[in-house]
Amino acid sequence: MAISGLDIFKLLPRTNCGDCGVPTCMAFAMKLAQKKAELGECPFASEEAKAILGAAAEPPIQLAKIGGKSVFEAGNETVLFRHEKTFVHQTGIAIQLCSSEDEKELLRKIKEIEDYNIERVGEELYTDLFFLSHDTEDAQQFLKIIDLVKQNSKKGIILDCENQEVLAEAIQLLREDSPAVLLKKEITEADIEQAKVNDLCLIITAKNFDDLILQAEKAKNAGVKNLFLNLDCDNLGRQLQNNTILRRAALKQNFKPFGFPLFSYIKAENKDDLLAKASFLLCKYCSLIVLPEYDKALLYSLFTLRQNIYTDPQKPIQVEAKVYPIGEPTPESPVFVTTNFSLTYFMVSGEIENSGISAHLVIVDVEGQSVLTAWAAGKFTGEKIAKFVKDIKLEEQIKTRKIIIPGFVAQISGDLEEALPGWEVIVGCQEASDIPSFIKNVALI
Ligand code: SF4
Repeated sequence: MAISGLDIFKLLPRTNCGDCGVPTCMAFAMKLAQKKAELGECPFASEEAKAILGAAAEPPIQLAKIGGKSVFEAGNETVLFRHEKTFVHQTGIAIQLCSSEDEKELLRKIKEIEDYNIERVGEELYTDLFFLSHDTEDAQQFLKIIDLVKQNSKKGIILDCENQEVLAEAIQLLREDSPAVLLKKEITEADIEQAKVNDLCLIITAKNFDDLILQAEKAKNAGVKNLFLNLDCDNLGRQLQNNTILRRAALKQNFKPFGFPLFSYIKAENKDDLLAKASFLLCKYCSLIVLPEYDKALLYSLFTLRQNIYTDPQKPIQVEAKVYPIGEPTPESPVFVTTNFSLTYFMVSGEIENSGISAHLVIVDVEGQSVLTAWAAGKFTGEKIAKFVKDIKLEEQIKTRKIIIPGFVAQISGDLEEALPGWEVIVGCQEASDIPSFIKNVALI
């Protein structure tokens, strides 16, 4: 919880000696409150001040990490809702593989999961981790599956194994890879020691809030902070309620035992159920979910949802401002113009492509805003488009002198024509989905 400048001032020596670089303790307290200074800059700060201000400076949700070659991070969140500020880390998606599965089938699956990277609005989307379950008596089968994942993937691993001897062997196999271990029973001293020695992330499982508090405090007091919390619950409604309580307590009350990212293994009756549960938990407030099966359609839906939820609205996804060829344009091909907001670019370029023609698509830098927003902000005007067309020397690259602007900004056509002498400005359609019919009905060349 944020601590006020006045509260910080009360903890300082109040001698106004100036050794911290500012003339008074009050001025230094204000700098500390604004996170523009460190307490260490005051050589006379008491141990009490260090303890109190150190705890206040800790993030309300601790950072958790899994993996060696490719590290998955969760936590460090500071807000309940994205519109308040931003979410720091998106929910991780892990896929379960079981040691009882056929080895060839496992290898095929690992490779397929590894290769399943899709690009959407300029971002690469993929699964984050493997969740490996030891579900046979045969220890070798479990160790084999770990080896298969290690050989074929850089993704981090979560170990789900209740046999302590086999688990210890698995941890040794992964000693360079900082795996996570799902603890299904109450955390023990041995678990804590193992986590410290082997740089493990621990996933604590509890049946109720009291149990969760005891276990989280036990780990934290012993110096293990790389934790996920798993409050076991079979009812989705109750789980959403629990997650909300946990997140609110951590963020609003600064309740330290709940200040860790949340984990959930998703149990479902069928695919629809799985998608519904995974979607809810991804939104509220799981930082790591495990899917019991690999299914591309399911993953695509979750990737899209995750991207929509976790994209920072203050930093719109942008594409580079330049001329993009659509198809195989010639110097006579028509010229379309729009903004560098990724979604706009991908929709417009996709619809031009769908129409079957080749064209030049001029993307103007408006700091990643959509057409109407950029126009309202004075960033997508006739003058600015004309300047960009001249800067990139478009007239030297193409012969056509017809430029198609988005229908939503028909009002800039006069200014653009004035700023681009010799060009005919054509007002296009408002919606990208109407581009194919617009192209059919208008003589563009
Ligand atoms: S060094 Fe410490 S005691 Fe001196 S003015 Fe700064 S805050 Fe106050």
